Amino acid sequence: MNLTEHFTLDEFTRSTTADRLKIDNSVPTDLMPNVQLTAIKLEFVRQALGKPINITSGYRCPALNARVGGVSTSAHTKGLAVDFNSSYGTPKEICQRLIDAGVQFDKLIQEHNQWVHIGFNPNNNRQIVLTAVKQGGKTIYKNGLL
Ligand SMILES: [Zn+2]
Repeated sequence: MNLTEHFTLDEFTRSTTADRLKIDNSVPTDLMPNVQLTAIKLEFVRQALGKPINITSGYRCPALNARVGGVSTSAHTKGLAVDFNSSYGTPKEICQRLIDAGVQFDKLIQEHNQWVHIGFNPNNNRQIVLTAVKQGGKTIYKNGLL
């Protein structure tokens, strides 16, 4: 099922962890408007980068989210966030480009120089920018792009 020109519902729900553990990660009907909104917002991300983006984690049902160590309030569980990479550049370069291009988001996180997390809010996008780093084996979030 196509959500927008460049994004399918399957890209939001597929998960090797869910497959392996036989977790049903389909999006509940009441969260479909959120996933739709996220796909629309991601079109702007794609446009700003001028390159396709590869979603590595989109929607996560609560069971899947718990298994991957996500916080229970994660925007992933509401269909409002994705983790992705792009051939555009490094996660930091991607984040910088999205900021420079004025792309709207609620939270943009450069995660360990490995991927980008972007979350949206239907009502109020706060443009929060964070960098996730490991400190003493724990992930902490620092303000801005480091
Ligand atoms: Zn994420």
